[in-house]
Amino acid sequence: MTRSQVHRYLLYLIASSTAIFVVLLCTFFLLDASHFSDKLPRTLVAAGVSTALLLFIGGVLIAILDREERRRIGELRRQAEKLRDSDFGERLPERSGDQLGELAAVFNDMRDKLRLTTLSRDYVDSILASMHDAIIVTSADGTIKRVNKATTHLLGFERDELLQTSIELLVNTKKSGSLLDEPPTGRPREAFLVSKTGESVPVSYSCSLLEGKEAESGDRIYLAQNISERRRAEKRIRYLARIDALTKIPNRMQFQHLLQRSIARARRSNRQLCLFYFDIDKFKEINDTFGHLAGDTTLETVAERLTESVPGKSTVGRLAGDEFAAVVECSDAEGNPKQISEQLAAKLLNRLAEPFFVQGHEVFMTASMGIAQYPKDATNVIDLIRNADAALYSAKKHGGNQFARYRPEMNEAAVERLMTKSKLKRAFERDELLVQYQPKYNLETGEVFGAEALVRWELPERGIILPADFIPIAEESSLIIEIGEWVLDKVCEDFRYWQRSVSSPGRVSVNLSLKQLRQANFAERFSAILRGHEVSPTSLELEITETTLMEDTERTIKLLDELYALGLHLAIDDFGTGYSSLSALQQFPISTLKIDQSFVRDVAYNDGDATIVSTIVQMGQNLNMDVVAEGVETEDQLALLQNLGCTYAQGLLFGDPMSCDNYLELLLAQSEGTDQYRALFG
Ligand code: C2E
Ligand code: MG
Ligand code: MG
Repeated sequence: MTRSQVHRYLLYLIASSTAIFVVLLCTFFLLDASHFSDKLPRTLVAAGVSTALLLFIGGVLIAILDREERRRIGELRRQAEKLRDSDFGERLPERSGDQLGELAAVFNDMRDKLRLTTLSRDYVDSILASMHDAIIVTSADGTIKRVNKATTHLLGFERDELLQTSIELLVNTKKSGSLLDEPPTGRPREAFLVSKTGESVPVSYSCSLLEGKEAESGDRIYLAQNISERRRAEKRIRYLARIDALTKIPNRMQFQHLLQRSIARARRSNRQLCLFYFDIDKFKEINDTFGHLAGDTTLETVAERLTESVPGKSTVGRLAGDEFAAVVECSDAEGNPKQISEQLAAKLLNRLAEPFFVQGHEVFMTASMGIAQYPKDATNVIDLIRNADAALYSAKKHGGNQFARYRPEMNEAAVERLMTKSKLKRAFERDELLVQYQPKYNLETGEVFGAEALVRWELPERGIILPADFIPIAEESSLIIEIGEWVLDKVCEDFRYWQRSVSSPGRVSVNLSLKQLRQANFAERFSAILRGHEVSPTSLELEITETTLMEDTERTIKLLDELYALGLHLAIDDFGTGYSSLSALQQFPISTLKIDQSFVRDVAYNDGDATIVSTIVQMGQNLNMDVVAEGVETEDQLALLQNLGCTYAQGLLFGDPMSCDNYLELLLAQSEGTDQYRALFG
């Protein structure tokens, strides 16, 4: 029984006994008050009256208490109703030793806890609402359970239109496949979503399993970012990187890429290809006589004439200054490829030789041409171009304005290549390899922040041979693996040597070739070398080109994740020259982008190159990556890179790549504040 019930019963008791007493008293008076008055002892009457008075007062008190209790219960109910309506109201007064008071304490406690959890839920809601990335939570079968404001903003749907629908309805499955088939790995991927107006929106997204008490098993969270802007920038970079700015036809890189594809097609369909390699005769004279503008017009004219004269499906490109090339399919069914190619060659040379006018001057121009045929003369891009070039050289040697077909004896380089390969095998025994270091400078402070290790081969009879002349040969066999390990071993040895004199020799980067990356136990061999020298992986960086990265991505991601976990830094070398999208590259744990030197070369004069560099720098910043500009040769380039916010630079402006000892001297000079290049940074 609660205290209030006791109060109430007491009240009833008192009220009823008072009533009985009053009734008795009234009866007594009504019957014969005077008759009884003498007989009834006065004291009894006094006692009766005072008892009645006491009972009355008690009754009044209890009535007051009861009213107070009803008020408190009413208050409790009001607060409970407020809470039901999501209003936290006021705390109830707590009184100990009374059950209503205890109830109020429990109620207050509950109210406080509810307020806390609601606050944190509201807080999470406001975080989600203020995020720029779209967030979509779905159940395992893809039913949307929750979206944030950025999602409605991205797709133009109202929140309620999205809830309880399938996420698959928001995806352009034709372009992106099904999102549900993707494992929830949290790795960034790309897809096209569909907005309310039916527009395709490119996004970079990741999908993870939702964890926590409230998540049902299999709930997924998608995080998506609109990348339309980035795609446009990337498209522009790729365009500028592939198309020759003057003639608007593919540049060397793109031509090689297209040639590669033509070869693959020809291989599949058993067709033959002809590669025509052109060079304008005495182009320098046109430039010198009529000026550079005329030179430019000449190049544009060549590009136009070649493009309109080759058969459809052919590709024309500008490979260098006044060198052009065209690849033409010539199948057996249409006649003898030799005959076809020679007829076409004559037609092209005649068309090029037609005079044209530049600024009122009539220009007579001729060209020479070398022809190499796939698969007869070569079966890969490099050899096909090299052989066509050898034939071109022969045509020039015989006076120009003619074509020559490739013959094996034209290519002394091929013979040389074989000799180089056999010599390279002995380079190790003879201790002919060496490593030089090219310092990387912090563009803001002018400090050396590390160096790139570059391998060289020193032949007694030929002097220093640069990697471009032997790495491709080494890559044809497992020699590249031996060279790679030798370089790493040497770098570690040098690093320990520097550490004896300077506390931090900076981060040293080592170039990696595809064959090394493909080695089954690369990570183990790599760590073993580092352990052998007690060099921390955090002191090193691996430089890998875009093309190498994109070979067998699944495996490469796994391997690089493993290396990254060791603490190693990873950089994309020659960035901008490949064909992968930045989002694809984001799958790898990369921390540095190295802008290829072909973009840096003309950055101070060529708007297109400046745009590329600026876009790469911005992308790097957005993705939290360091950006290194390669091949900085002039102060103009340096100043422009500084303006664009590029982080680091390396190049001949700061001297030639140097020996291990010279790099140490540079580090020591820097710590003494006497290094000679500091002034360049202004
Ligand atoms: P990379 O990794 O892009 O290295 C930069 C190249 O640019 C180096 O050429 C460097 O000497 C050159 N360079 C640096 N600054 C300038 C500059 O201001 N102007 C010009 N014109 N060139 C500059 P290098 O040493 O001939 O190396 C060429 C390529 O050979 C490297 O390109 C790299 O891909 C490869 N390589 C070098 N060392 C190794 C190695 O140990 N292993 C492997 N697998 N490849 C290597
Ligand atoms: Mg490199
Ligand atoms: Mg490079």
